[in-house]
Amino acid sequence: MVSANDVDRLFLQAVLSRGLMSTMLARVLWQKSVSAVNASNNALNLPQSDDDESWIAFMDRINGSIDKLDLQLRTIHDESSGKEMCALVNLKGDEIAQLATDYAPLEIAFFKAIVEQIMLAPREAFSVSSIASLRELHAAKINMTKSQAEVVLASFVAKGWLLKSRLGRYSLASRSLMELQPYLKSTYPDDLLECTICTEVLTRGVACCAPNCKVRMHTHCLATFRRSKTGTACPSCSKAWPKDKPLTPVGEEAAREGDDRKRRVRLDSVDDSDEDDASQDDPPNSPPKKGGRLHKRKNNNTQDSNMEVDNENSEQDEAQPTQTQTQRAQRTRRSTKH
Ligand SMILES: [Zn+2]
Ligand SMILES: [Zn+2]
Repeated sequence: MVSANDVDRLFLQAVLSRGLMSTMLARVLWQKSVSAVNASNNALNLPQSDDDESWIAFMDRINGSIDKLDLQLRTIHDESSGKEMCALVNLKGDEIAQLATDYAPLEIAFFKAIVEQIMLAPREAFSVSSIASLRELHAAKINMTKSQAEVVLASFVAKGWLLKSRLGRYSLASRSLMELQPYLKSTYPDDLLECTICTEVLTRGVACCAPNCKVRMHTHCLATFRRSKTGTACPSCSKAWPKDKPLTPVGEEAAREGDDRKRRVRLDSVDDSDEDDASQDDPPNSPPKKGGRLHKRKNNNTQDSNMEVDNENSEQDEAQPTQTQTQRAQRTRRSTKH
């Protein structure tokens, strides 16, 4: 017998099969689920109200019932358009399990390596060139040809995990920002930024022009803020924000020529193959640590956390095992393994 619960079931099936979608579409699917259930059992006569309040109540009810599965229906605003998007998110996803149904482990390793270069890009550029993306094949020792990698990259874009800009730079698409947020938060806690206005994650937008100020805003949030009475100065440090001058960019616009020449590695990253070597101490006469500057991404333009690894160095990895060991020893073991 068809019951009111079938609305939830129909709706969840629709959301699962579509992945990330606009909230507007999600609401249409919700209404269609109600109509379908009413049509198969006239006696039910479920109310067909689609106002905001009913939608929020419906989302709460859905979340209440999928909570025990560590799933949650969440919304996020698309960073470029400001449009509200909606998807089912796995709350326990501190690994990139979401990609496992579509990609082989090697391809997931490639994805993670690209995400790392995006997250650690200097100047809060949160993007990486295609040349630097392909360099990860060698640097992260991923056994894939360039042309295979190009196909996989195109698929990451087609499936909504990455965005490719007109200049050919890759950045995280809304789907990644939403579905991989637990992974991004646990892996890059000091690098993931938050919008001062909407408090959602931020990888493109603007930064306050004061050097030590942490205020960041999405472009659409800035537009709203600018229209407010206090919209002429920074909400945190009160620095005047001239209307005719753009604020400091966050995202691809912040990238400069040559930024991609060096790849960056998390100081606390230890992959499985390094596990055995990582505990070794530096040899007594080890050279000074190269670029191992550990300061956290706290302010604009000066943040350059994590380690820069020269491309040349990684080329030498195989030839000079002692240097490799030194590099490995420079990374500290992650203590937050679950
Ligand atoms: Zn925002
Ligand atoms: Zn400020």
